[in-house]
Amino acid sequence: MAKEEKSGKKQRKPKRRGKLYVRYQVKGGELVRTNSSCPKCGPGNTMAKHQSRKTCGKCGYTEFSRKE
Ligand SMILES: [Zn+2]
Repeated sequence: MAKEEKSGKKQRKPKRRGKLYVRYQVKGGELVRTNSSCPKCGPGNTMAKHQSRKTCGKCGYTEFSRKE
């Protein structure tokens, strides 16, 4: 086992974050949730929006939405 000695200070790599999830939108001074909340977890948990469905990352609840 080779033991490597690291000298110097640790280098921190800045984490690049992509687009921030927009969970709320302000419309006319009112806060509007863009994502619907999970019926199982309560209004505090927003659901992830997908193309044709919404899923809750906490309990796994999936809601399909179809546009006709
Ligand atoms: Zn949930």
